[in-house]
Amino acid sequence: MFQDKDLQRTPLSEIGEFGMIDRIQSSFKNTQPTTQLGIGDDCAIIDYGEKAMLISTDMLTEGVHFNLAYVPLKHLGYKAIASSVSDVCAMNALPQQVLVSFAVSDRFPVEAIDELFAGMLIACQKYEVDLVGGDTTASKAGLVINVTAIGSCDKEKIVTRKGARENDLLVVSGDLGSAYFGLQILERENEVYKVNPNVQPDLRPYDYLIGRQLKPEARLDIIKLLEKLNVKPTAMIDVSDGLASEILHLSQQSKVGFTLDEEKIPLDQQVISAGEEFELNASIAALNGGEDYELLFTIKQEDYDKIKGNPHFTVIGFANDLQAGNHLVARGSNIKIPLTSQGWDAFYQYQKNVKNAEEE
Ligand code: ADP
Ligand code: MG
Repeated sequence: MFQDKDLQRTPLSEIGEFGMIDRIQSSFKNTQPTTQLGIGDDCAIIDYGEKAMLISTDMLTEGVHFNLAYVPLKHLGYKAIASSVSDVCAMNALPQQVLVSFAVSDRFPVEAIDELFAGMLIACQKYEVDLVGGDTTASKAGLVINVTAIGSCDKEKIVTRKGARENDLLVVSGDLGSAYFGLQILERENEVYKVNPNVQPDLRPYDYLIGRQLKPEARLDIIKLLEKLNVKPTAMIDVSDGLASEILHLSQQSKVGFTLDEEKIPLDQQVISAGEEFELNASIAALNGGEDYELLFTIKQEDYDKIKGNPHFTVIGFANDLQAGNHLVARGSNIKIPLTSQGWDAFYQYQKNVKNAEEE
């Protein structure tokens, strides 16, 4: 195909990850009555009567999503499962099974793959999911991991990205920005290590940030808590690409805009300190970083009392008319800044890595 001289050669980076997905989606039409929802949400929904099956798949590639110079394989295994399970949680569903495929070069001994799967086992036990299949194959360079997660849910309990309505409250679980700073610190220390392998860094002041980067959790506990509190979100997504990008996904699918209050974005004290150290506004890390795997959702105003004061939840904004657009109200002011997404776009990350490799 690439030998065809008449074929236009548009760089992937020109349309980006989401542009590419739109392109694929536009040429495939669903025909099966069981396909309730296809491309475009955290999971596909397969309709089986009262219950629905939720399916999501995620791929991680060495050099783009992880750097084995500082990511232990056991953590990587845990994270691969957690990030896929997170997509099932984002539909308000309970994860049940995973399939794991990987491609590996002969650079990796058996013991390395054992470590990877030891991490996966811990995650499978934690989230109570069964490993029921996968595929094992060779790669010429590096490690590629793909995890498919399957969950189930009563049909009327499923939450998609679509259902937010004007005046709904925008809520996030946990706190944001930590995984981004965790990555910055690991990359910084890796650079120091390359120059002087004898330096032993003291990473204790950053333990929370590094933990959030290396071993994120899927918020299955939040799904169970929402059920207990009798709150069904009107729309939901998991925060894998940064808050701004996820808000824009909810906006696009629900046909509402959002007003986000910068002051309300939950930030851990270590994120605030790291922001000062890296001279980067900590809110930017929450907005444009990624991999926090918290749940971002909307609730009806009448449900506010059910979550009020709960330390797991923060109301960070509300839904407004689509025409009014998506805005951030800057800290300590009434200034409204249009919300744009710079999320974690794998194609840009790939380009950055290639550029770095060329410079080295
Ligand atoms: P998430 O960040 O929740 O994992 P993505 O941003 O990766 O979701 O994907 C968005 C949507 O596009 C999902 O519904 C996903 O299944 C779909 N998608 C991504 N890549 C492809 C592909 N190559 N073919 C078909 N669907 C895809
Ligand atoms: Mg997702």
